[in-house]
Amino acid sequence: MSDSRFRVLVVDDEEVVVSLVRDALEDEGVDIDGALSGPEALSCIEKNPCDLIITDIRMPGMDGIQLVTRVREKNPDVQVIFMTGYANLNSAKDAIKQGASDYIMKPFELVEIRQAVRRALDALRQAAESSQTAKLNHLTDLNQVLFTANDRSSLITSSLQFAMLHQKAHFGSIVVLDGDQGSSSVITVTDDGLIHVELPQETAMGLAGAMERGRLERPAVISAIGDLPPFAGNRREALAESIRPPWMTPGVSAVAVPVRRAGDISALMFLGFQDDTVTIREADLTFLSITATQLAMSLDNLSLLDETRQAYRRLKELQDETIELEKMATRGQLSAEIGHELNNFLGVVAGNLSLLDFNVKKQKFENIERYVSTMTETIEKMKRFTGNLMDLRTGSSARETLSFDQTIREVIDYLRPQKRFRDVSIFVARIDEDIPFEADSTQILQLLYNLFNNAADATIDSDRREITVRVEKKSDRGRFRFAISDTGIGFPEDVLRKAFNEKFTTKKTGHGFGLVVCRRIVDQHGGTVNVHSQQGQGATIVIEFPMAAKEAVPA
Ligand code: ADP
Repeated sequence: MSDSRFRVLVVDDEEVVVSLVRDALEDEGVDIDGALSGPEALSCIEKNPCDLIITDIRMPGMDGIQLVTRVREKNPDVQVIFMTGYANLNSAKDAIKQGASDYIMKPFELVEIRQAVRRALDALRQAAESSQTAKLNHLTDLNQVLFTANDRSSLITSSLQFAMLHQKAHFGSIVVLDGDQGSSSVITVTDDGLIHVELPQETAMGLAGAMERGRLERPAVISAIGDLPPFAGNRREALAESIRPPWMTPGVSAVAVPVRRAGDISALMFLGFQDDTVTIREADLTFLSITATQLAMSLDNLSLLDETRQAYRRLKELQDETIELEKMATRGQLSAEIGHELNNFLGVVAGNLSLLDFNVKKQKFENIERYVSTMTETIEKMKRFTGNLMDLRTGSSARETLSFDQTIREVIDYLRPQKRFRDVSIFVARIDEDIPFEADSTQILQLLYNLFNNAADATIDSDRREITVRVEKKSDRGRFRFAISDTGIGFPEDVLRKAFNEKFTTKKTGHGFGLVVCRRIVDQHGGTVNVHSQQGQGATIVIEFPMAAKEAVPA
């Protein structure tokens, strides 16, 4: 806004006062509106915001002070001159304390109102200048400009404004070549902001080609775009015309500044001057060249930052995918293990079924009951096994009082015939009878299966494949101890450190969950687990559990 165009609104319920003030300000170079009441003044401001209000204080309905309060809610910088009679002098003085500019006493001389208006306009000019200065101060430091702009378009426009400010240019445009996107645009700085014109794709392509062919190394003073090497020649006239900034007149000097780095041109800046006699010195061109290089570097950095962000995003995605794949692989291995266990159970059922069939055909009925009960028991075990898998997943636990010594014997009986234990001797070194134990039986079975399986696996390459178990009471503390030893490879120190970690395995077909599950089960039963082992000399896993009250053991 130019300062000769300040807008003044005169408000008074007496029309004659409004026209008097209008007349008084006729030669002050301001636009004047008039209103006969507060509400009328508000709707007038709605249409044409004003810089200065000259208002009567005493008006019917909304008085002058109320009016100003309402206006200031939206425009706190508006200047105010109150016109007041003697009766309202104190209100006017109070209003000034709250920020109104001035007051004049009615009846007033025309010269008085002119002086008050001039003072108000001076204040308005000063305020406008200081806000402009703050903007300029910000623009004077290129580093500041480049540092604070964090997107491509503000980087480009701020650099253009910076160049204009330092060269005292009145006009400025920048043609941005976005090779990657196959698009280009022309941005022009005007008093009211920026004009952004997107160039048709064909023009953008032609422009990129022209820039590649005709090298433009340094800033140059030109009188038409056609003077520049990329646009020299008759056939390029149309291209030159399509990127010509609106302010550029052929024959009037302007400066063209290529924004380039390492042979790649990313933009073309144009500066123009109101006064055609302005001389552009070599030092100015050097300054512009440095500004352009800085801009090009910042644009490069911004692209790098974008690429880095994208690469980081992709990396995160890959990481998520890998975790997902690993989960699937684990699930696959677990399924294989589960399949294997279920197959064992099914083998028992199938075997008994064929024996049953065979015997029935031969009319031999004496063993039938045994076959059926074995099948029923095995199916029961299968149920428990699958239920156990669920329980481990959900962490739920159903307790019953069982006899640990009996459980361990059952497990050994079940494991012995399995392929994994074919060449393995299982010794029961000591089992104290009658060890009552409050536990989730399926979880305890799972714990024992895992420990026995590991012990058998560890002895695969041993000359002597032996597993020894010992279960004894520690009556002093109401606890009992279960130890399983093997003649296997033992735990090297680094394996022992990680053996209880999820997914840690040294086996080709391992899944690394066995010991994790063991520890969880032991914890859930208030027990402790310790490993005693030396590499090459087997391992002993010792588990201590609290015993249950004796009476609770079922018959
Ligand atoms: P997995 O059996 O799938 O490998 P575990 O969690 O049961 O998973 O065991 C983790 C690792 O601990 C095994 O791969 C093995 O290296 C080691 N380990 C477990 N039990 C024994 C043992 N009795 N003797 C030697 N090493 C063992």
